[in-house]
Amino acid sequence: MSSFLSKNAALRGLLDQHLGSLAAEEGLSPESIISAIEAGTMVLLGNPAHPGLKPILVGQPARIKVNANIGTSPLSSCMETERRKLKAVIEAGTDTVMDLSIAGDLDAIRQSLLADCPLPLGTVPMYAVGQHILDASREISSMSPDQLFEEIEKQAKQGVDYVTVHCGLSRRGAELGSRPERAMGIVSRGGSMLARWMLDNDRENPLLEYFDRLLDICLPYNVTLSLGDGLRPGAGVDAGDAAQWEEVINLGLLAARAHDRGVQCMIEGPGHVPLHQVRTQIQGIKRLTNGAPLYVLGPLCCDSAPGYDHIAGAIGGALGVEAGVDFLCYLTPAEHLTLPDEADARAGVMASRVAAHTGEVALGTPRAVTREAAMNAARKALDWDGMARAALDPTQVEKRREPHKKEEVCAMCGKFCAVKMLRRD
Ligand code: SF4
Repeated sequence: MSSFLSKNAALRGLLDQHLGSLAAEEGLSPESIISAIEAGTMVLLGNPAHPGLKPILVGQPARIKVNANIGTSPLSSCMETERRKLKAVIEAGTDTVMDLSIAGDLDAIRQSLLADCPLPLGTVPMYAVGQHILDASREISSMSPDQLFEEIEKQAKQGVDYVTVHCGLSRRGAELGSRPERAMGIVSRGGSMLARWMLDNDRENPLLEYFDRLLDICLPYNVTLSLGDGLRPGAGVDAGDAAQWEEVINLGLLAARAHDRGVQCMIEGPGHVPLHQVRTQIQGIKRLTNGAPLYVLGPLCCDSAPGYDHIAGAIGGALGVEAGVDFLCYLTPAEHLTLPDEADARAGVMASRVAAHTGEVALGTPRAVTREAAMNAARKALDWDGMARAALDPTQVEKRREPHKKEEVCAMCGKFCAVKMLRRD
């Protein structure tokens, strides 16, 4: 038996059950999937304790995956709304969901979402710990490391499939990230809490100091570590600074340690990155993290598009995929402004799916090329049903076609239809 898989019984069990269907869905051979998982360049997201889960593969050449964040906030906390958002993002075609709730009964919300979500579900356990402390009007510095590890273990038992853990954010990184010359300082919620804890207690990050304890918790459940980017740039001018790279170097070393122990991990990436730096950022992160699957927020290619950040993120996301990104976390039109509603969530998933497909077209992956060819053939034949089948969102084709669906051409040009003009039949 191979060395990595021999250490992870939960992952072996999932592969025994799902490898055939995963290979068929991805258009990859079972052997190539096993070999990529062994190398740590692909992960299978799935905790056997998650009821009704359909595990998925993350890591090129597997299809680029898209994540949707949902969850409550102190200013908007309703379990029913979160259930509706979950339904909306699944219908829109997300591949995974993260519950980022920070208000209400977090255990009840998480367990309800786990029960209703057949897709891998991720969380940021630091949020639940932070909620206990802040709701009791205490300082984050009063957190005990045991609280954090106990929360992660509880969530692993509940069936959470992957956790964002800011293990690479060191004491030194917290100081670098807090320097006044960093335009936006530390913008990660989990990262800022850990940085506050380290600076107030003059101690190292417990997730870094006791990393082996984290691995012991995650291994039996095949909980994949999403090694968080607590120092991701929150402004384009912060991209590529010392704080960001200090953390990336740590993440690469930790990813190697996790792999040695049989624990799967992904790397979380930037953040706000100007367009001309996206390629070098992605290549640099991939190089320093041994090609581990890269999970990016955006990257957002400009800072000044609130209301349209799903577009700013999709531009960076498409370029990122072409440069090696494996997994896109959506941004919605509500980013930087408010909690997304169902419509925002749908728009975010579609923007990321367009970015993922655009990147795959540039890479020439067979699935993307085949879809493009099907769309082109349908357009040339004015075959509206064929266009809907090839479209990333068939409902848009049907909805916009509806008022004039009896016409052969569309309302854009009518009898000036260029496609029809050149037909000889
Ligand atoms: S009417 Fe115009 S937009 Fe519509 S199918 Fe014909 S050429 Fe394309």
